[in-house]
Amino acid sequence: MARARYRHIIWDWNGTLLDDLDLSIEVMNSLLARRDLPRLDRPRYHALFDFPVRRYYERLGFDPAHDSFEQLSVEFIAGYDAQRLGASLHHHTTSTLVAVRAAGLGQSILSAYRHETLHEIVAHFRLTAHFDHIVGLDNIHAHSKVALGRELVARLGLAPAEILLVGDTLHDLEVARDLGVACALVAAGHHPAARLRASGAPVYDDLAAFGAAQEF
Ligand SMILES: [Mg+2]
Repeated sequence: MARARYRHIIWDWNGTLLDDLDLSIEVMNSLLARRDLPRLDRPRYHALFDFPVRRYYERLGFDPAHDSFEQLSVEFIAGYDAQRLGASLHHHTTSTLVAVRAAGLGQSILSAYRHETLHEIVAHFRLTAHFDHIVGLDNIHAHSKVALGRELVARLGLAPAEILLVGDTLHDLEVARDLGVACALVAAGHHPAARLRASGAPVYDDLAAFGAAQEF
């Protein structure tokens, strides 16, 4: 095996290690159905989902006069949390984490998901032992993912050039750029492959392709 390029991988969770695309569509469809709005399927989701999420909600047709973004977010998160254990890992999540560790790299999770719920679901899938740090958003301090990422990079004690961030959306690429770390994208989550490829970042069809390429 070639010597590792990086010393640490920072993983995104939702859509990257966890296959929650269909769950997210299903939960949003329940909000849409309650308001007689057009439902989502995968192509429509991939055409509409983006950051900031507030604009995505507007594109779905919610009427801000009836439902505030904050109310809709709370409703979505409640629905998602109620069904979260119905999501599954991507097919090659565990084997990829094992391969990365075998190549000598450390691994962490950096997620916009709430810290405690993130720890709980990672433990549910028996993945906790693969990670040096598991970092989610802290409601109390209302950190951004970038602020949390900066803290994580500082805790790792590594130069940004020694770190690879792997995610499933263009937001992950933005976070990586803000942190000054390298980025690879996996097109099996919340942004479609064509949009990811247009960014110029390395894009893999799935975790199996990422693992096979050995570009870490
Ligand atoms: Mg994601």
